[in-house]
Amino acid sequence: MSFDADVLIIGGGLAGLTASIHLATNKLRIVLIERHAYPQHKVCGEYVSNEVLPYLQQLGLDIDGLKPSRLHRFLFSTVSGKTIQSDLPLGGFGISRYVFDHFLYIKAVSAGVRIFQDQVTDVQFDNECFTTTTSSGKTYTSKLVIGAYGKRSVLDKQLQRAFIVNDSPWIGVKAHYQASFPNDQVSLHNFAGGYCGLSQVENNVVNACYLVNYNSFKKFRNVTAFQEQVLCQNPFLKDFFSRAVPLFEKPLTISQISFARKEPVEQHMLMCGDTAGMIHPLCGNGMAMAIHSAKLASELIIAFFQEQLVTQSQLEHRYRTSWNNAFKKRLATGRMIQTLLLNSTLSSVLLSSLQRLPSALPLLIKQTHGNPLIAQ
Ligand SMILES: Cc1cc2nc3c(=O)[nH]c(=O)nc-3n(C[C@H](O)[C@H](O)[C@H](O)COP(=O)(O)OP(=O)(O)OC[C@H]3O[C@@H](n4cnc5c(N)ncnc54)[C@H](O)[C@@H]3O)c2cc1C
Repeated sequence: MSFDADVLIIGGGLAGLTASIHLATNKLRIVLIERHAYPQHKVCGEYVSNEVLPYLQQLGLDIDGLKPSRLHRFLFSTVSGKTIQSDLPLGGFGISRYVFDHFLYIKAVSAGVRIFQDQVTDVQFDNECFTTTTSSGKTYTSKLVIGAYGKRSVLDKQLQRAFIVNDSPWIGVKAHYQASFPNDQVSLHNFAGGYCGLSQVENNVVNACYLVNYNSFKKFRNVTAFQEQVLCQNPFLKDFFSRAVPLFEKPLTISQISFARKEPVEQHMLMCGDTAGMIHPLCGNGMAMAIHSAKLASELIIAFFQEQLVTQSQLEHRYRTSWNNAFKKRLATGRMIQTLLLNSTLSSVLLSSLQRLPSALPLLIKQTHGNPLIAQ
């Protein structure tokens, strides 16, 4: 049987683009379908853990050339302005999604990936062949499909995934600012109903990105009123927003962010990145997990095409197991920390305990991160 592609990838964010580069450089024929044009801004804290650097380097991706900020220190503040600081055990880099995704897109195109701007609306698997349909009416056949379409998509409805039936109360807001801010620090600041991350990306620009519960947000007319009346009760955020010059016409917002459990394999598709499971953003590990899951899927897919894995069900089983081994514990720790932080009493107790035992903070951060990744 002849296919349009060996592997079709749905979604060209970090997971989809990384997998496409990995697979195309191993001589597989890849089609990637992304609904938006590049480059574009995305709601994201834009702090990437260094755990993915060795792997990106092995794929020939020179992150240094993008001139990211280098982030080694962490500061956390409660609503009342009490703080705790620590070194970040592995450290990370700050890069805007505008630059990072576009860079990967250019690399994917030069690796031979065929990228189409379109929206996938349907995927069917029959007789060892996937047929993928898009909103422009095109269909593509492929031997395998990777689902890398992010946290929520029309496809989740079509696949009848369990999490999609429930509304999620979480909203994300992000904008870039010109402001003086330490170039090596990521900070996380609590406010009623959410938390806001601040850190530098390339060109000394500061990214402010927050996650908030809709119940806290809905009493206010707009983002500006909410920031002034709720975020600015935290003295650190008040100081930042009073002197920062916005670089966006208005902040970007997204809603319906769900942290519900998902499955890494659905209807024979290997799910990567947020499509397989989303870690709470305060862990600063979602992008690294997206890239890491792309690595896991790509290595197994290459083994499948080299016939080291004989059947598709072996491939699916191996991916499900590796995904759970790599990420299940991190996701659970993220859920536990988010519950503690969003309760003002528990968050103060946590801070006082960490102030008495400062060495525990890097250990807690480590629980939500992995080890440096080396390609096999
Ligand atoms: C408020 C907030 C702050 C965060 N801060 C951080 C942080 O500081 N550090 C960190 O590591 N992580 C952070 N994250 C998490 C991080 O943004 C995600 O984990 C990461 O973007 C996942 O990458 P992905 O490739 O899985 O998905 P995405 O980057 O969302 O890419 C999915 C792509 O699929 C496309 N798509 C969707 N549906 C279709 C379709 N049907 N057809 C075609 N294309 C489609 C979309 O347009 C999109 O480009 C944060 C998240 C939030 C919400």
